[in-house]
Amino acid sequence: MNGEIANIVLGVVIAASVLGYMYQRDKRLFFPALGFFAFVALMVSGPYVTGFFAHDPVAPTCEGCNVVIIVPEVLRKDYLGVYSGVSYTPSIDAFFADAWKFTNYYGTAPWTLPSHTSMLTGLYPKNHKLIHNGYNFSEDIMTMAQYFAKNGYFTISLNGGGHMGADYNLTRGFSYARELYRFENNLDIALDTIEAFTIEPFLMLMSVYDVHDPYNRYGPVSAATGYTGVLASDPISTRSLEHTGELYVQNIVNLSRAFVTSNQSIVTLSDEDVAYFRARYADNVVHLDSKLKSVFDALEARGILNNTIVVLTSNHGEELYEHWLSHSLMYEPVMNTPLLLRIPQATKTTYTKLMSNVDLFPSLSALVGLDVPKNIDGINIWNESHDYIFGESDIPRHKYMVTDGTYKLLVENEHFLGTIELYNIKNDPGENYNVYGLTGAQTYFDQITLFSRS
Ligand SMILES: [Zn+2]
Repeated sequence: MNGEIANIVLGVVIAASVLGYMYQRDKRLFFPALGFFAFVALMVSGPYVTGFFAHDPVAPTCEGCNVVIIVPEVLRKDYLGVYSGVSYTPSIDAFFADAWKFTNYYGTAPWTLPSHTSMLTGLYPKNHKLIHNGYNFSEDIMTMAQYFAKNGYFTISLNGGGHMGADYNLTRGFSYARELYRFENNLDIALDTIEAFTIEPFLMLMSVYDVHDPYNRYGPVSAATGYTGVLASDPISTRSLEHTGELYVQNIVNLSRAFVTSNQSIVTLSDEDVAYFRARYADNVVHLDSKLKSVFDALEARGILNNTIVVLTSNHGEELYEHWLSHSLMYEPVMNTPLLLRIPQATKTTYTKLMSNVDLFPSLSALVGLDVPKNIDGINIWNESHDYIFGESDIPRHKYMVTDGTYKLLVENEHFLGTIELYNIKNDPGENYNVYGLTGAQTYFDQITLFSRS
Protein backbone atom coordinates (compact mmCIF):
# COMPACT_ATOMS: atom_id res chain seq x y z
CA MET A 1 0.00 0.00 0.00
CA ASN A 2 2.85 2.41 0.77
CA GLY A 3 4.27 1.79 -2.71
CA GLU A 4 0.90 2.67 -4.24
CA ILE A 5 0.69 5.89 -2.26
CA ALA A 6 4.22 6.83 -3.37
CA ASN A 7 3.22 6.24 -7.02
CA ILE A 8 0.15 8.45 -6.65
CA VAL A 9 2.21 11.25 -5.06
CA LEU A 10 4.81 10.97 -7.84
CA GLY A 11 2.04 11.11 -10.49
CA VAL A 12 0.53 14.24 -8.95
CA VAL A 13 3.97 15.93 -8.79
CA ILE A 14 4.72 15.12 -12.47
CA ALA A 15 1.26 16.27 -13.59
CA ALA A 16 1.56 19.52 -11.63
CA SER A 17 5.02 20.22 -13.11
CA VAL A 18 3.86 19.60 -16.70
CA LEU A 19 0.74 21.72 -16.17
CA GLY A 20 2.76 24.54 -14.59
CA TYR A 21 5.18 24.52 -17.53
CA MET A 22 2.31 24.58 -20.07
CA TYR A 23 0.51 27.36 -18.23
CA GLN A 24 3.57 29.57 -18.66
CA ARG A 25 4.46 28.57 -22.27
CA ASP A 26 1.10 28.12 -23.98
CA LYS A 27 -2.21 28.73 -22.18
CA ARG A 28 -4.26 27.18 -25.04
CA LEU A 29 -2.88 23.70 -24.21
CA PHE A 30 -3.40 24.05 -20.44
CA PHE A 31 -7.08 23.04 -20.19
CA PRO A 32 -6.92 20.03 -22.57
CA ALA A 33 -3.84 18.84 -20.62
CA LEU A 34 -5.65 19.39 -17.29
CA GLY A 35 -8.56 17.33 -18.64
CA PHE A 36 -6.18 14.56 -19.70
CA PHE A 37 -4.50 14.35 -16.30
CA ALA A 38 -7.88 14.48 -14.50
CA PHE A 39 -9.05 11.56 -16.67
CA VAL A 40 -5.91 9.52 -15.86
CA ALA A 41 -6.29 10.34 -12.14
CA LEU A 42 -9.92 9.14 -12.13
CA MET A 43 -9.04 5.88 -13.89
CA VAL A 44 -6.23 5.16 -11.43
CA SER A 45 -8.15 6.08 -8.30
CA GLY A 46 -11.43 4.35 -9.30
CA PRO A 47 -10.81 1.09 -7.41
CA TYR A 48 -9.71 3.01 -4.30
CA VAL A 49 -12.81 5.21 -4.43
CA THR A 50 -15.21 2.27 -4.81
CA GLY A 51 -13.23 0.27 -2.22
CA PHE A 52 -13.59 3.16 0.20
CA PHE A 53 -17.35 3.34 -0.20
CA ALA A 54 -17.92 -0.43 -0.15
CA HIS A 55 -16.16 -0.81 3.24
CA ASP A 56 -15.08 -4.30 2.35
CA PRO A 57 -12.22 -5.19 4.64
CA VAL A 58 -8.95 -5.96 2.91
CA ALA A 59 -8.00 -9.63 3.31
CA PRO A 60 -4.84 -9.92 5.39
CA THR A 61 -2.06 -12.40 4.67
CA CYS A 62 0.57 -13.88 6.93
CA GLU A 63 2.37 -16.38 4.76
CA GLY A 64 4.08 -19.22 6.62
CA CYS A 65 3.18 -17.73 10.00
CA ASN A 66 2.81 -19.74 13.19
CA VAL A 67 -0.72 -20.13 14.52
CA VAL A 68 -1.73 -20.24 18.18
CA ILE A 69 -5.42 -21.00 18.85
CA ILE A 70 -6.62 -20.42 22.40
CA VAL A 71 -10.02 -21.93 23.23
CA PRO A 72 -11.23 -21.26 26.77
CA GLU A 73 -14.49 -23.05 26.35
CA VAL A 74 -17.76 -21.63 27.82
CA LEU A 75 -16.33 -18.11 27.31
CA ARG A 76 -19.04 -15.56 26.58
CA LYS A 77 -18.39 -12.66 24.23
CA ASP A 78 -19.99 -10.02 26.43
CA TYR A 79 -17.70 -10.86 29.37
CA LEU A 80 -14.72 -9.62 27.34
CA GLY A 81 -13.88 -5.91 27.55
CA VAL A 82 -12.86 -5.83 23.90
CA TYR A 83 -16.49 -6.67 22.99
CA SER A 84 -18.54 -4.94 25.64
CA GLY A 85 -16.31 -2.60 27.64
CA VAL A 86 -16.51 -4.61 30.90
CA SER A 87 -13.39 -4.51 33.08
CA TYR A 88 -12.86 -8.25 33.65
CA THR A 89 -10.24 -8.86 30.95
CA PRO A 90 -7.48 -6.19 30.88
CA SER A 91 -4.86 -8.60 29.48
CA ILE A 92 -7.04 -9.95 26.68
CA ASP A 93 -8.20 -6.42 25.81
CA ALA A 94 -4.62 -5.12 25.57
CA PHE A 95 -3.23 -8.11 23.67
CA PHE A 96 -6.06 -8.06 21.10
CA ALA A 97 -6.47 -4.27 20.97
CA ASP A 98 -5.58 -4.11 17.22
CA ALA A 99 -6.97 -7.52 16.28
CA TRP A 100 -9.61 -8.54 13.78
CA LYS A 101 -12.79 -8.75 15.84
CA PHE A 102 -15.68 -10.92 14.59
CA THR A 103 -19.11 -9.94 15.85
CA ASN A 104 -21.29 -12.58 14.15
CA TYR A 105 -19.29 -15.72 14.73
CA TYR A 106 -21.26 -18.84 15.72
CA GLY A 107 -20.43 -22.24 17.15
CA THR A 108 -22.19 -25.17 15.49
CA ALA A 109 -23.64 -26.69 18.69
CA PRO A 110 -24.44 -25.67 22.28
CA TRP A 111 -21.88 -28.01 23.85
CA THR A 112 -18.24 -28.84 23.43
CA LEU A 113 -17.81 -32.13 21.61
CA PRO A 114 -19.80 -31.36 18.45
CA SER A 115 -18.80 -27.69 18.28
CA HIS A 116 -15.09 -28.24 19.01
CA THR A 117 -14.97 -31.00 16.39
CA SER A 118 -16.52 -28.62 13.85
CA MET A 119 -13.78 -26.10 14.53
CA LEU A 120 -11.10 -28.76 14.05
CA THR A 121 -12.60 -30.33 10.89
CA GLY A 122 -14.55 -27.59 9.08
CA LEU A 123 -17.61 -29.88 9.16
CA TYR A 124 -21.05 -29.39 10.67
CA PRO A 125 -22.04 -31.97 13.36
CA LYS A 126 -24.32 -33.85 10.92
CA ASN A 127 -21.21 -34.55 8.83
CA HIS A 128 -18.56 -35.31 11.46
CA LYS A 129 -21.24 -37.23 13.45
CA LEU A 130 -19.96 -36.37 16.92
CA ILE A 131 -23.32 -35.26 18.21
CA HIS A 132 -23.64 -37.80 20.98
CA ASN A 133 -21.30 -38.67 23.80
CA GLY A 134 -19.12 -41.63 23.01
CA TYR A 135 -18.89 -41.26 19.25
CA ASN A 136 -15.46 -41.37 17.72
CA PHE A 137 -15.20 -39.68 14.43
CA SER A 138 -14.24 -41.44 11.23
CA GLU A 139 -10.57 -41.88 10.36
CA ASP A 140 -11.47 -40.58 6.89
CA ILE A 141 -12.12 -37.10 8.23
CA MET A 142 -9.10 -34.82 8.06
CA THR A 143 -8.42 -32.50 10.99
CA MET A 144 -6.88 -29.05 10.86
CA ALA A 145 -3.83 -30.46 12.65
CA GLN A 146 -3.37 -33.21 10.04
CA TYR A 147 -3.69 -30.67 7.24
CA PHE A 148 -1.19 -28.25 8.75
CA ALA A 149 1.20 -31.12 9.59
CA LYS A 150 1.00 -32.35 5.99
CA ASN A 151 1.96 -28.84 4.92
CA GLY A 152 5.11 -28.67 7.02
CA TYR A 153 3.76 -27.39 10.35
CA PHE A 154 4.84 -28.76 13.71
CA THR A 155 1.56 -29.34 15.56
CA ILE A 156 1.08 -29.06 19.31
CA SER A 157 -2.07 -29.72 21.34
CA LEU A 158 -2.26 -28.54 24.93
CA ASN A 159 -5.83 -29.48 25.64
CA GLY A 160 -8.39 -29.69 28.38
CA GLY A 161 -8.96 -33.40 27.84
CA GLY A 162 -12.52 -34.76 27.93
CA HIS A 163 -14.51 -33.44 24.99
CA MET A 164 -11.47 -31.54 23.71
CA GLY A 165 -8.81 -34.24 23.93
CA ALA A 166 -7.51 -37.70 23.16
CA ASP A 167 -10.57 -39.51 24.61
CA TYR A 168 -12.49 -38.48 21.50
CA ASN A 169 -9.53 -38.67 19.08
CA LEU A 170 -9.38 -34.89 18.92
CA THR A 171 -5.59 -34.96 19.23
CA ARG A 172 -5.38 -36.65 15.82
CA GLY A 173 -2.75 -34.95 13.68
CA PHE A 174 -0.89 -33.32 16.54
CA SER A 175 2.81 -34.23 16.75
CA TYR A 176 2.81 -33.44 20.46
CA ALA A 177 -0.24 -33.59 22.73
CA ARG A 178 -0.61 -33.04 26.42
CA GLU A 179 -3.55 -32.50 28.73
CA LEU A 180 -3.74 -29.23 30.66
CA TYR A 181 -7.36 -29.38 31.90
CA ARG A 182 -7.20 -25.82 33.18
CA PHE A 183 -4.45 -23.20 33.13
CA GLU A 184 -5.15 -23.09 36.86
CA ASN A 185 -3.66 -26.59 37.24
CA ASN A 186 -0.98 -26.60 34.57
CA LEU A 187 0.02 -23.11 33.51
CA ASP A 188 3.68 -24.16 33.85
CA ILE A 189 3.24 -26.85 31.20
CA ALA A 190 1.84 -24.27 28.80
CA LEU A 191 4.65 -21.79 29.47
CA ASP A 192 7.37 -24.48 29.26
CA THR A 193 5.95 -25.74 25.97
CA ILE A 194 5.92 -22.26 24.44
CA GLU A 195 9.57 -21.92 25.45
CA ALA A 196 10.74 -25.42 24.54
CA PHE A 197 9.41 -26.04 21.04
CA THR A 198 11.39 -23.89 18.65
CA ILE A 199 10.47 -25.67 15.41
CA GLU A 200 8.72 -23.27 13.04
CA PRO A 201 6.23 -22.92 11.59
CA PHE A 202 4.00 -24.43 14.25
CA LEU A 203 0.30 -24.75 14.97
CA MET A 204 -0.49 -24.75 18.69
CA LEU A 205 -3.93 -25.39 20.14
CA MET A 206 -4.63 -24.55 23.76
CA SER A 207 -8.12 -25.61 24.81
CA VAL A 208 -8.95 -25.29 28.50
CA TYR A 209 -11.86 -25.50 30.96
CA ASP A 210 -10.93 -22.55 33.20
CA VAL A 211 -14.23 -20.75 32.65
CA HIS A 212 -16.42 -23.86 32.95
CA ASP A 213 -18.54 -24.41 36.06
CA PRO A 214 -18.17 -24.72 38.99
CA TYR A 215 -17.71 -20.96 38.95
CA ASN A 216 -16.04 -20.35 42.24
CA ARG A 217 -12.85 -22.28 42.21
CA TYR A 218 -10.71 -19.24 42.69
CA GLY A 219 -11.73 -17.93 46.08
CA PRO A 220 -14.50 -15.57 47.10
CA VAL A 221 -16.32 -13.50 44.53
CA SER A 222 -13.63 -11.13 43.37
CA ALA A 223 -13.57 -7.37 43.68
CA ALA A 224 -13.38 -7.09 39.90
CA THR A 225 -16.99 -8.15 39.49
CA GLY A 226 -18.22 -5.49 41.93
CA TYR A 227 -20.59 -7.96 43.56
CA THR A 228 -21.27 -7.08 47.19
CA GLY A 229 -24.61 -8.73 47.83
CA VAL A 230 -25.58 -11.67 49.94
CA LEU A 231 -27.88 -14.44 48.88
CA ALA A 232 -31.41 -13.51 49.76
CA SER A 233 -33.24 -16.68 49.02
CA ASP A 234 -32.84 -20.38 48.63
CA PRO A 235 -34.55 -21.27 45.35
CA ILE A 236 -34.14 -24.97 45.92
CA SER A 237 -34.85 -25.12 49.62
CA THR A 238 -36.95 -28.26 49.45
CA ARG A 239 -33.78 -30.08 48.56
CA SER A 240 -32.09 -28.60 51.64
CA LEU A 241 -28.97 -27.62 49.81
CA GLU A 242 -26.42 -25.19 51.07
CA HIS A 243 -27.03 -22.01 49.22
CA THR A 244 -23.64 -20.49 49.50
CA GLY A 245 -20.45 -21.15 47.61
CA GLU A 246 -19.58 -23.95 45.29
CA LEU A 247 -22.31 -26.36 46.30
CA TYR A 248 -24.97 -23.76 45.63
CA VAL A 249 -23.75 -22.96 42.14
CA GLN A 250 -23.04 -26.58 41.32
CA ASN A 251 -26.46 -27.76 42.38
CA ILE A 252 -28.17 -25.11 40.32
CA VAL A 253 -26.12 -26.14 37.30
CA ASN A 254 -26.94 -29.80 37.87
CA LEU A 255 -30.62 -29.06 38.30
CA SER A 256 -30.59 -26.95 35.15
CA ARG A 257 -29.26 -29.95 33.24
CA ALA A 258 -31.98 -32.09 34.75
CA PHE A 259 -34.46 -29.48 33.52
CA VAL A 260 -33.24 -29.73 29.96
CA THR A 261 -33.73 -33.47 29.82
CA SER A 262 -36.93 -33.65 31.89
CA ASN A 263 -38.42 -30.41 30.55
CA GLN A 264 -39.66 -29.45 34.02
CA SER A 265 -38.88 -26.17 35.65
CA ILE A 266 -37.10 -27.03 38.87
CA VAL A 267 -35.23 -23.87 39.71
CA THR A 268 -36.47 -20.32 40.05
CA LEU A 269 -33.82 -17.76 40.83
CA SER A 270 -34.37 -14.37 42.46
CA ASP A 271 -32.62 -11.28 41.05
CA GLU A 272 -30.14 -11.58 43.89
CA ASP A 273 -29.39 -15.21 43.06
CA VAL A 274 -28.87 -14.29 39.42
CA ALA A 275 -26.48 -11.47 40.36
CA TYR A 276 -24.53 -13.92 42.51
CA PHE A 277 -24.44 -16.54 39.78
CA ARG A 278 -23.20 -14.05 37.19
CA ALA A 279 -20.56 -12.66 39.54
CA ARG A 280 -19.27 -16.21 40.05
CA TYR A 281 -19.03 -16.71 36.29
CA ALA A 282 -17.27 -13.35 35.90
CA ASP A 283 -14.80 -14.52 38.55
CA ASN A 284 -13.74 -17.38 36.30
CA VAL A 285 -13.26 -14.96 33.41
CA VAL A 286 -11.13 -12.68 35.59
CA HIS A 287 -9.06 -15.71 36.59
CA LEU A 288 -8.65 -16.81 32.97
CA ASP A 289 -7.46 -13.34 31.98
CA SER A 290 -4.75 -13.35 34.65
CA LYS A 291 -3.46 -16.74 33.45
CA LEU A 292 -3.55 -15.68 29.80
CA LYS A 293 -1.36 -12.70 30.65
CA SER A 294 1.46 -15.18 31.39
CA VAL A 295 0.79 -16.99 28.09
CA PHE A 296 0.91 -13.71 26.13
CA ASP A 297 4.12 -12.73 27.94
CA ALA A 298 5.70 -16.09 27.08
CA LEU A 299 4.86 -15.65 23.37
CA GLU A 300 6.33 -12.15 23.50
CA ALA A 301 9.48 -13.43 25.25
CA ARG A 302 9.98 -16.00 22.48
CA GLY A 303 10.12 -13.06 20.06
CA ILE A 304 7.65 -14.68 17.65
CA LEU A 305 4.72 -12.26 17.71
CA ASN A 306 5.76 -10.63 14.42
CA ASN A 307 5.23 -13.95 12.59
CA THR A 308 2.54 -15.59 14.72
CA ILE A 309 -1.25 -15.36 14.40
CA VAL A 310 -2.94 -15.62 17.78
CA VAL A 311 -6.60 -16.65 17.88
CA LEU A 312 -8.91 -16.38 20.89
CA THR A 313 -12.26 -18.11 20.57
CA SER A 314 -14.70 -20.43 22.31
CA ASN A 315 -16.67 -23.55 21.35
CA HIS A 316 -19.84 -22.23 22.91
CA GLY A 317 -20.87 -19.68 25.50
CA GLU A 318 -23.05 -20.01 28.57
CA GLU A 319 -26.51 -18.95 29.62
CA LEU A 320 -26.66 -17.11 32.91
CA TYR A 321 -30.43 -17.15 33.35
CA GLU A 322 -31.26 -15.19 30.17
CA HIS A 323 -33.40 -18.15 29.10
CA TRP A 324 -31.90 -20.82 31.23
CA LEU A 325 -28.54 -21.85 32.71
CA SER A 326 -25.47 -23.65 31.46
CA HIS A 327 -25.11 -24.61 27.78
CA SER A 328 -27.70 -26.80 26.16
CA LEU A 329 -30.08 -24.49 24.27
CA MET A 330 -29.20 -22.57 21.11
CA TYR A 331 -29.79 -18.98 22.21
CA GLU A 332 -27.33 -16.19 21.44
CA PRO A 333 -25.27 -16.22 24.68
CA VAL A 334 -24.37 -19.84 23.88
CA MET A 335 -24.13 -19.83 20.07
CA ASN A 336 -22.78 -16.36 19.19
CA THR A 337 -19.21 -16.71 20.42
CA PRO A 338 -16.07 -14.56 20.52
CA LEU A 339 -13.44 -14.67 17.78
CA LEU A 340 -10.38 -12.44 17.88
CA LEU A 341 -7.52 -12.76 15.39
CA ARG A 342 -4.26 -11.02 16.18
CA ILE A 343 -2.56 -10.96 12.78
CA PRO A 344 0.92 -9.38 12.43
CA GLN A 345 0.89 -6.20 10.30
CA ALA A 346 -2.87 -6.42 9.66
CA THR A 347 -5.12 -3.41 10.05
CA LYS A 348 -7.51 -3.45 12.99
CA THR A 349 -10.89 -4.50 11.60
CA THR A 350 -14.35 -5.38 12.84
CA TYR A 351 -15.87 -8.13 10.71
CA THR A 352 -19.65 -8.11 10.96
CA LYS A 353 -20.66 -10.71 8.36
CA LEU A 354 -21.87 -14.15 9.38
CA MET A 355 -19.21 -16.70 10.15
CA SER A 356 -19.43 -20.23 11.54
CA ASN A 357 -16.66 -22.03 13.37
CA VAL A 358 -16.51 -24.46 10.42
CA ASP A 359 -14.88 -21.51 8.60
CA LEU A 360 -11.92 -21.18 10.95
CA PHE A 361 -9.89 -24.07 9.48
CA PRO A 362 -10.17 -22.98 5.81
CA SER A 363 -9.77 -19.27 6.66
CA LEU A 364 -6.63 -19.82 8.73
CA SER A 365 -5.26 -22.05 5.97
CA ALA A 366 -5.74 -19.24 3.44
CA LEU A 367 -4.26 -16.70 5.84
CA VAL A 368 -0.95 -18.58 6.10
CA GLY A 369 -0.82 -19.22 2.35
CA LEU A 370 -1.99 -22.86 2.23
CA ASP A 371 -4.59 -24.07 -0.28
CA VAL A 372 -8.10 -23.96 1.12
CA PRO A 373 -9.01 -27.56 2.10
CA LYS A 374 -11.67 -29.17 -0.09
CA ASN A 375 -14.82 -31.19 0.68
CA ILE A 376 -15.65 -29.42 3.92
CA ASP A 377 -18.60 -27.25 4.98
CA GLY A 378 -16.50 -24.22 5.93
CA ILE A 379 -15.50 -21.43 3.54
CA ASN A 380 -12.53 -19.11 3.26
CA ILE A 381 -14.14 -15.95 4.64
CA TRP A 382 -11.51 -13.71 3.03
CA ASN A 383 -13.02 -14.68 -0.35
CA GLU A 384 -16.61 -15.76 0.27
CA SER A 385 -19.47 -15.16 2.68
CA HIS A 386 -22.50 -17.07 3.96
CA ASP A 387 -26.18 -16.22 3.44
CA TYR A 388 -27.11 -18.65 6.24
CA ILE A 389 -25.32 -20.54 8.97
CA PHE A 390 -26.57 -23.46 11.05
CA GLY A 391 -26.51 -25.02 14.48
CA GLU A 392 -27.43 -28.47 15.72
CA SER A 393 -28.20 -29.88 19.11
CA ASP A 394 -29.08 -33.29 20.49
CA ILE A 395 -30.19 -32.14 23.96
CA PRO A 396 -32.56 -33.70 24.67
CA ARG A 397 -33.77 -34.25 21.10
CA HIS A 398 -32.35 -33.27 17.73
CA LYS A 399 -32.79 -29.55 17.08
CA TYR A 400 -31.72 -27.22 14.30
CA MET A 401 -30.88 -23.54 14.22
CA VAL A 402 -30.58 -21.35 11.14
CA THR A 403 -29.82 -17.65 10.93
CA ASP A 404 -29.12 -15.08 8.24
CA GLY A 405 -27.97 -12.56 10.83
CA THR A 406 -31.39 -10.90 11.05
CA TYR A 407 -33.79 -13.73 11.87
CA LYS A 408 -33.05 -16.95 13.71
CA LEU A 409 -35.25 -20.03 13.55
CA LEU A 410 -35.09 -22.83 16.13
CA VAL A 411 -36.96 -26.05 15.37
CA GLU A 412 -37.07 -29.62 16.52
CA ASN A 413 -35.62 -31.94 13.88
CA GLU A 414 -36.40 -31.83 10.16
CA HIS A 415 -40.10 -32.47 10.82
CA PHE A 416 -40.41 -29.23 12.84
CA LEU A 417 -42.04 -30.90 15.83
CA GLY A 418 -42.78 -29.12 19.08
CA THR A 419 -42.37 -25.39 19.68
CA ILE A 420 -41.16 -23.30 16.77
CA GLU A 421 -39.18 -20.21 17.69
CA LEU A 422 -38.37 -17.33 15.34
CA TYR A 423 -36.52 -14.27 16.63
CA ASN A 424 -35.43 -11.04 15.03
CA ILE A 425 -31.97 -11.08 16.60
CA LYS A 426 -31.13 -7.63 15.20
CA ASN A 427 -34.01 -5.84 16.93
CA ASP A 428 -34.48 -8.33 19.75
CA PRO A 429 -30.99 -9.64 20.62
CA GLY A 430 -32.32 -11.03 23.92
CA GLU A 431 -34.64 -13.34 21.92
CA ASN A 432 -37.60 -12.41 24.10
CA TYR A 433 -40.30 -12.14 21.41
CA ASN A 434 -41.15 -15.19 19.35
CA VAL A 435 -42.40 -13.69 16.08
CA TYR A 436 -43.26 -17.01 14.48
CA GLY A 437 -46.77 -16.59 13.12
CA LEU A 438 -46.30 -12.83 12.73
CA THR A 439 -43.60 -12.96 10.10
CA GLY A 440 -43.07 -15.23 7.10
CA ALA A 441 -40.59 -17.92 8.02
CA GLN A 442 -40.78 -20.22 5.00
CA THR A 443 -37.29 -19.29 3.74
CA TYR A 444 -35.78 -20.48 7.02
CA PHE A 445 -37.73 -23.75 7.08
CA ASP A 446 -36.57 -24.34 3.49
CA GLN A 447 -32.96 -23.73 4.52
CA ILE A 448 -33.19 -26.27 7.33
CA THR A 449 -34.78 -28.81 4.98
CA LEU A 450 -31.91 -28.29 2.51
CA PHE A 451 -29.32 -28.41 5.27
CA SER A 452 -30.66 -31.61 6.87
CA ARG A 453 -30.71 -33.41 3.51
CA SER A 454 -27.34 -32.25 2.15
ZN1 LIG B 1 -18.33 -27.17 26.66
